[in-house]
Amino acid sequence: MAGCTLASEITKRELGSVLLLEAGGQPTSLHLKVPSQYPLAFSGRHSWGHATTPQPNLANRRIAMPVGRTLGGSSAINAMIFMRAHASDFDAWHSQLGEAWAPDRVEEAFSAIGQMTGMLNQSLPELHEVTKDLMECIGHSVLRHGRLDEPRLGVGPFVRCQKNGRRQSAWDLQLNHRLRKPSLTVRTDTEVKQIEFDLNRATGVQVLTPHGIESIHAGKGVILCAGAIHSPRLLLDSGIGDAEDMRGLGRSLVCQSPAVGQNLHDHLVYPIVHHLRRGVSLNPSPSKEERMRYLRDRTGPRSSNIAEAGGFFAWHGSNNASVPDYQWHITPTHYLEYPHRHDPTSAISFGVTVLRPKSRGRISLVRSEDANGTDIKGPFTLRIDPAYLTEESDRTAFVRSVQESRKLLADSNLQTLLGQEIMPGEKRIDEDQIAKSLARFATTIYHYVGSCKMGTSKDHSVVDSHFRVHGVDGLHVCDASALPSIVSANPQCTVMMMAYRLANWLESAAEV
Ligand SMILES: Cc1cc2nc3c(=O)[nH]c(=O)nc-3n(C[C@H](O)[C@H](O)[C@H](O)COP(=O)(O)OP(=O)(O)OC[C@H]3O[C@@H](n4cnc5c(N)ncnc54)[C@H](O)[C@@H]3O)c2cc1C
Repeated sequence: MAGCTLASEITKRELGSVLLLEAGGQPTSLHLKVPSQYPLAFSGRHSWGHATTPQPNLANRRIAMPVGRTLGGSSAINAMIFMRAHASDFDAWHSQLGEAWAPDRVEEAFSAIGQMTGMLNQSLPELHEVTKDLMECIGHSVLRHGRLDEPRLGVGPFVRCQKNGRRQSAWDLQLNHRLRKPSLTVRTDTEVKQIEFDLNRATGVQVLTPHGIESIHAGKGVILCAGAIHSPRLLLDSGIGDAEDMRGLGRSLVCQSPAVGQNLHDHLVYPIVHHLRRGVSLNPSPSKEERMRYLRDRTGPRSSNIAEAGGFFAWHGSNNASVPDYQWHITPTHYLEYPHRHDPTSAISFGVTVLRPKSRGRISLVRSEDANGTDIKGPFTLRIDPAYLTEESDRTAFVRSVQESRKLLADSNLQTLLGQEIMPGEKRIDEDQIAKSLARFATTIYHYVGSCKMGTSKDHSVVDSHFRVHGVDGLHVCDASALPSIVSANPQCTVMMMAYRLANWLESAAEV
């Protein structure tokens, strides 16, 4: 996704010629266009289909980690929620990384992304009957009700990357229309296998195409935008990583960079699910009438992004009550059943997410024979261990967020719509019971970040404040992997904002 923003800005500003390389093919599947069908794209040709190692704090489950594999990256398969981060998320970035991340610069870049994508002027998309009903009830409750395009406290419908009932990925929004520019070349089905170096200067990449292996020379430099799973992998495959690990794998070292793959983290979600007193949930198998309606005017349940609304909350008695601690994703479905259950059901889910988790994991390469059930491709296999909930404070924060959410849902206005609680279930009251349910059912909400962290020290970070890889020349990493810490929001808008900032720095060549 970041690659689309960057290629678009470089082309628009005429900063040079760009070759965009994408491992996947063209985004042709209907699952990428019809909003309610995106979960069907999580397996299949448009996703890399990764999974974590067994997670001890999640009942030893391996958590599926879909990643988009097509033009637009994960923005081609994601939930389309468009939301800038909270201003306070950048306090630490500013103090640790300096003026490059001063609040006014971040603000200016977010505004530019808002304008460029046109998202902030969009009228709100249609809501499913169940979500509409809930919003009505919320309008009468203490939870404020307004459109959510930033992590403001309260509940409301999300702004979505959609136009006329269809998904708008970063490719659709930012790059597709620039294809006529002679300075832009896009190649699909071209997987980068390694970065090539002359001493410690990146000079190009080696790619695998349907026709075989090829070397491509880069005139000015290489920018990795392969995302939080694949950017660290490419660095490790290219000899940038921890010297001892590389020796163990029998690989030659280009640059000692022990932080590559470290600091991987993510947002988890746990759904509180209620029966509904009235209405029917979104059904993954639309009726003939619904299909015709969508074909005719692109409206109706098929245009739903499922996570249609959300909320942001500070913990009760929190020191800074304007900064949210946890988020809801509200779906007019039983979260764990959609899209697998096809007969009509009557449930609604409030997915609870702690916004600033402290647990940190790691992406590494292992020899395939040591991979122990992770996906095996070639002599080395990726080992993805987000180390979910390893910090006790995260476990406590999660239980607390679920408990406080339950209290909010007990509001009498909401109770006119919400029937019996299905999950965690009315019998599960104490902390221990909730913690056990979290371990069994919490899962990723797909916000993997941080594995090529931005920072000032070569030992503890991978890129500097301007996305330049420490210790080598001519190489940047600019995508979700560069976030030093996750933002209190859905991250795609923040990743676009980061790519926009890099385009600014590339423009003022002195800083490149
Ligand atoms: C299922 C899902 C739902 C989500 N929902 C939301 C949401 O609603 N709102 C939100 O804000 N965020 C959401 N996110 C997160 C958001 O989509 C990501 O944070 C964002 O897309 C990250 O951008 P990126 O550029 O870092 O990586 P990506 O968007 O993943 O792009 C990486 C690209 O690099 C390509 N690539 C990787 N390796 C290679 C290689 N070796 N050679 C060539 N190409 C390669 C990939 O195929 C892909 O196209 C969701 C993510 C997922 C997976």
